Amino acid sequence: MIYLDHNATTEPALEVIGEMVDALERAWANPSSMHAPGQAARSLLADARARVARFLGCAGAELVFTSGATESNHMAIEGALKARAAEGRTRLVLSAVEHPGLMALATRLEAQGVPVSRIPVDRQGRVDLAAAQALMGTDVAIVSVMGANNETGVLMPLAELAALAHGCGAWLHADATQLVGKARLNFASSGVDLLSVSAHKLHGPKGVGALLIRKGLALPALLGGRQERQRRGGTENTPGIAGFAAACDRAAQTLDDDLARMAALRDRLQAELLRTLPAVQVYGAQVPRLPNTLCVRFGPLHSDPVLGKLERAGVMVSSGAACTAAGTAPSHVLLAMGETPEQAQSGIRFSLGRDTTAADIEATVAGVHRAVGPMLADAGFTVPAFTPSSVATLQPGAAAHALAA
Ligand code: PMP
Repeated sequence: MIYLDHNATTEPALEVIGEMVDALERAWANPSSMHAPGQAARSLLADARARVARFLGCAGAELVFTSGATESNHMAIEGALKARAAEGRTRLVLSAVEHPGLMALATRLEAQGVPVSRIPVDRQGRVDLAAAQALMGTDVAIVSVMGANNETGVLMPLAELAALAHGCGAWLHADATQLVGKARLNFASSGVDLLSVSAHKLHGPKGVGALLIRKGLALPALLGGRQERQRRGGTENTPGIAGFAAACDRAAQTLDDDLARMAALRDRLQAELLRTLPAVQVYGAQVPRLPNTLCVRFGPLHSDPVLGKLERAGVMVSSGAACTAAGTAPSHVLLAMGETPEQAQSGIRFSLGRDTTAADIEATVAGVHRAVGPMLADAGFTVPAFTPSSVATLQPGAAAHALAA
């Protein structure tokens, strides 16, 4: 089996499992208890906080552990709306391609009377900065734009968005769930005020993540309680947090190499799919993208049967967001990029991991040809016989077939 669904989740690293087991065995007491076992758990928490903060480039006091990015996103947006209402800042501005959990939150808030504005994206899937600028105003509480899109991997211009948001006195929240382990991330220099991350996208455990809150920013808690400096109640998930710290340490050790290797393999996969199959459309290829992500459409083929055939060929991938993979609804991301509803039901996302090898990519190309070639032939396309290629024979111009701007 070749697992190319790392944007959905990643396999926990051995170091992560080791530290989690250790925390369960040795630091299971409540970190709020004053006795010695409690203090041992408390010191594990302090150590983990320092390690995660170092990896993300923030101060320990700016980091609040949560149950994952979904909770962090809710905390940031609902908190900002509450915090800023007294200033007459009641509006939420978000991009049209946010994660489904955040889109659902915006829809619910809107139904409750919160004014919501959505920033469109261009054909490549990048937020339109001129449109964003036109949506700014003194009634905006918070602007929320993801660091990278989970379906296409397209990176969003956070520095420019921070300038726009701050220009009108609003806060900027970034859902950076897809950036961790796949891009260099430094909260201190990012210009972002609130940033959500999740451990399971970085070979850490599920059910744990963080919200980074810029120093000095008063954000009301979503969950009451004294933990996390009264910013997030609930007994801390010490094993999960220990695993998160181990995942950050592990990622930091090899990040530069991982990014370069994943980019080379992703580019090779893209070039090989374009070389060996007709009618392959690549999404977001003309703007900066995560190094591990390749989102494509195979002509008119609906993603559901393609996913089934790919799985039988040993290639595990997703159609857009894993969270909506069970449904057949068109991808809101591809729709926002200007695709038709039929095209928006045809996206297939390959997302590589740091352990993906060149052999995995060769096998994937062959598997995709075997699975998708006959389907394209049935749809009337001329499909050439499969010829494996070495890197040396790749056609440099192949990427030019990528979806036009
Ligand atoms: N935001 C983005 C961009 C994501 O990709 C995901 C995970 N699919 C989430 C938020 C939700 O993260 P979690 O599973 O930690 O709640």
